[in-house]
Amino acid sequence: MEQTLDTAPKVAEFLQGTKKMFINGEWVASISEQTFETKNPATGEVLATVYEAGEEDVNRAVEAAREAFDHGPWSKMSASERSRLIYKLADLMEENAEELAQLDTLDNGKPINETRNIDVPAAIEHFRYFAGWSTKIVGQTIPVNGPYFNYTRHEPVGVVGQIIPWNFPLLMAAWKLGAALATGCTVVLKPAEQTPLSALYLAKLIQEAGFPDGVVNIVQGFGPTTGEAIISHEKVNKIAFTGSTEVGKHIMRRAADTVKRVTLELGGKSPNIILPDADLTRAIPGALMGIMFNQGQVCCAGSRLFVQKKAYDNVVADLVSHSKSIKQGPGLNTSTQMGPLVSDKQQNRVMNYIQKGQEEGAEMLTGGSNPFDKGYFVEPTIFAAVEDDMTIAKEEIFGPVVAAMPFEDLDEVIERANNTTYGLAAGLWTENVRNAHYVANKLQAGTVWVNCYNVLDAASPFGGFKQSGSGREMGSYALDNYTEVKSVFINM
Ligand code: NAD
Repeated sequence: MEQTLDTAPKVAEFLQGTKKMFINGEWVASISEQTFETKNPATGEVLATVYEAGEEDVNRAVEAAREAFDHGPWSKMSASERSRLIYKLADLMEENAEELAQLDTLDNGKPINETRNIDVPAAIEHFRYFAGWSTKIVGQTIPVNGPYFNYTRHEPVGVVGQIIPWNFPLLMAAWKLGAALATGCTVVLKPAEQTPLSALYLAKLIQEAGFPDGVVNIVQGFGPTTGEAIISHEKVNKIAFTGSTEVGKHIMRRAADTVKRVTLELGGKSPNIILPDADLTRAIPGALMGIMFNQGQVCCAGSRLFVQKKAYDNVVADLVSHSKSIKQGPGLNTSTQMGPLVSDKQQNRVMNYIQKGQEEGAEMLTGGSNPFDKGYFVEPTIFAAVEDDMTIAKEEIFGPVVAAMPFEDLDEVIERANNTTYGLAAGLWTENVRNAHYVANKLQAGTVWVNCYNVLDAASPFGGFKQSGSGREMGSYALDNYTEVKSVFINM
């Protein structure tokens, strides 16, 4: 039954007052007392006011993280004690699941059905997965020449600066914090300026779980100020970033000054390929979800849809009719399937791409406007007659816009799919096992989905080929990105 939720009492209470930063286990105002507002994208109204961290605040947070790493109780804690704390945090998140879901829905706009059933459970699962790893990070004994005993230790990399985007605010915090805490690092995390609230609520739970002071510090603010202070701080050992390729490149350059470790999870322009032998009853809704999920604001969104020529017209017509049945509306309405984009800036950016698509000669079959008189909505938008070199086929739009393109044969579509600077993910729809493996092997992408899309799991690595990033999040691979390997020789 359709229902617009009332804000949960704990959420209403949390939204009161200017939200402080979480530094060294305490809630503090920024030294400058500068603040900014975060808005509800469904209405454009101010949701909360938060303090903005300046350089001095970031210094405080980094010093706290440094002290906690070098001398604090965290540095002396056993792996199993760390593990218990992370499990405790996951339990507290479960107890506060509705509050976390509502906060991400209010701040980001995404439907409550998704935050309740996808974002929050996946975030909890991430912490549990990495809690289990804490006690299983082991080195090797190595049979070296001479009278030496040689072994390796995997030690935490140190203080980690984590900068996350707004598209999955809580889940991105979990992706980043899970591996860092399991390995024994300490953290200064900056949520995106558009969506700081769930990370701050999470900090309350981190405090309640009993993590020692300074292990996790949350500083909210903007990229060019707060973010810049984190990435250029000489006492930060590693930066873990998710966001645009442009900022990722900048972080890589900046990190070179102090040879920081860097992991980057960046943009994409992922191909989704429907072969002639695909089961279209699964492929069509699958392809639509592959682009429209989270309002298209997904780094691995299947934004280039390749359909074999013979099926192209039927598939595109079906996509258009399916897309018209997607229910758009405010995220707190339980029947909403698609919410607003995160901000007016993102809405304008997406609308500019839609206009550019039309100017360059693509045919817009449906969508292209805001169906409401307020909020940052964009209708599901489908373009046909798209050429590979058009802007909408090349650049990451990060909105509910798909470019549908026909192809003739398998090797042609593989070449076109790979003809991009990105390489984050790819999808393939086929009932032929040989084609499945052949195409999966050839695609230049960190993740390939066959007969499914947007499937992620804490146990499976995620990251990009080419300019979609470096390093991997999740799975055991993430642990490598948060540890240094030390080789010890003992003369016997
Ligand atoms: P962005 O890359 O600017 O922001 C992502 C995060 O980086 C935010 O926390 C931001 O404050 C921070 N940041 C920005 N500049 C920084 C700097 N100089 N130093 C340190 N941190 C900095 O992304 P955006 O402006 O929010 O969105 C623009 C486009 O980026 C989107 O339209 C989309 O194409 C892409 N994007 C991709 C992802 C992803 O998951 N790959 C996420 C968000 C945005």
